[in-house]
Amino acid sequence: MYLALCGAVFLAAYLLNILTITVGYHRGLAHKAVRLHPALKRVVIVGGNWLTGLDPKAWVVMHRLHHEHSDTPLDPHSPVNVGILGIGMEQLRNYKRVIIGLAREEPEYTRYAKDLDFPLNALNRTKRWYLPYLLHAAVGLGLGFGIGWLLGAAYFFGMMSHPVQGGLVNSLGHAVGGRNFDTDDNSRNNHLAAWLIFGEGFQNNHHRYPGSASFSYRRHEIDMGYGACVLLEKLGLATIQRDYLIPRPPREHSVEAQVQS
Ligand SMILES: [Zn+2]
Ligand SMILES: [Zn+2]
Repeated sequence: MYLALCGAVFLAAYLLNILTITVGYHRGLAHKAVRLHPALKRVVIVGGNWLTGLDPKAWVVMHRLHHEHSDTPLDPHSPVNVGILGIGMEQLRNYKRVIIGLAREEPEYTRYAKDLDFPLNALNRTKRWYLPYLLHAAVGLGLGFGIGWLLGAAYFFGMMSHPVQGGLVNSLGHAVGGRNFDTDDNSRNNHLAAWLIFGEGFQNNHHRYPGSASFSYRRHEIDMGYGACVLLEKLGLATIQRDYLIPRPPREHSVEAQVQS
């Protein structure tokens, strides 16, 4: 029972991180592939920063830099530049650079945020970016002292999972896997990253159709993040921009056609 509780807490924290980033920050704020209900958008902008420690505005600007300069020396996180193992430090270094650039209102960064109707989060404006981390550490310690250390660790590491999630997507999604589209970058469709991080591993599909709420092209490319978008739409909390959805593959590429031929 206790082990099941620890597993459930880890999973819930891990999923909250994924959903905040892939649905809220990425598909919602950065690409507007999903229009978030104003109340949900507010929760994502304010709550997302407390949950993940990542500033939504800085995340969006860094991500737009990634799309504009994919796998060139100006990409803020490309395994082509720093190798798979170098991605963790690279994304952290450039995230910090973007925060500072936005705080100083440098045009090099603000030009990627013109459509964003919200400022840097108050946590960053007041140089208290570390508070979400302190909060999660305090909750983890509280659970550890009060109930059990495994539960405290499950909470803390689940909440701190987003740099690992981002690192897997940014490294594997641009280094290991097949390609459906001949894009100018080194983007790949990595199924492991897509399973672990709700469709985000399908970077090649995503770079070809960045405005699509779904990152899946072929039938066997499972995108659970898009499933979450559909669920939110059913709940009246989001609207999928269907005009921009990735098209289905032509028949000769479809699984049925391959089976029949
Ligand atoms: Zn990418
Ligand atoms: Zn993107």
